[in-house]
Amino acid sequence: MPELPEMEAWRRQLDDPVSAFPIAKAGPAHIATLKTFDPPLRALEGRQFRGVERKGKRLLFPTADGELVLLVHLMTSGRLKSLRAGEKGPKTPAFALEFAGGSKLILTENARRKRAGVWLLTPEQAQAELEHLGPEALGLDPTQLGEIVRGESRRLHSLLRDQRVIAGIGRAWANEILHAAKLSPYALSADLSDEDVGRLATAMNDELARGLALREAGTGDERTYRVHRKLGQPCYVCGTPIAQVDFEEHTIFYCPDCQTGGRILKDRRLSRLLR
Ligand SMILES: [Zn+2]
Repeated sequence: MPELPEMEAWRRQLDDPVSAFPIAKAGPAHIATLKTFDPPLRALEGRQFRGVERKGKRLLFPTADGELVLLVHLMTSGRLKSLRAGEKGPKTPAFALEFAGGSKLILTENARRKRAGVWLLTPEQAQAELEHLGPEALGLDPTQLGEIVRGESRRLHSLLRDQRVIAGIGRAWANEILHAAKLSPYALSADLSDEDVGRLATAMNDELARGLALREAGTGDERTYRVHRKLGQPCYVCGTPIAQVDFEEHTIFYCPDCQTGGRILKDRRLSRLLR
């Protein structure tokens, strides 16, 4: 799933093309992708976007007249693309906007189950839709992070991924951040020392900034991630093979030497716990 670095790189890339011209044609949209019907999609036609904003993993396209906001959540396999006039795109995108002059914004989803979503909202509805999100992960300082981790005692991997607590981090960047902070994914947030919290805040900002710089340069997953999906490959700090463990519905990657004092973490899959 694209997370904060990926979404922010897209936001910067799309900001100019989507605000250059008014919208000539809104749609078509796959029935599972478009989540709202009032206001109707065609209400966008003739209006122009002010640019692209981002909140956590969601992109927002507010109209310049301040009346409407298009909200996009790509989930796991949704992808956005801007097409120049005349440029060939997929035959049946999940969602499409055509601008005056012929350029397009399209959303594709290469998955059997359509999970990506597009909402056309008023600014008030958009605000309500985003109200549950915690503060942005990029830019959190140690004091704010300290308040968050001491707010409830949760396993760190799960806490970092909870969008209500901190917005923008998913499983991939949780793996990268916890490794850089030398913290166990299973550590309980309330047990962190001030020094741990400081390291976690630094790791969060450094790793997300590193990811954003790489994604803006067009770097793929293989070279962007150093821990995520690197099972058996040497840790970039100490050379120990990266390990994996199933936790809830996720697979976590970690370095047993850097993060858990040499301990191998036990499987905590939900299916196993329920058995
Ligand atoms: Zn290591």
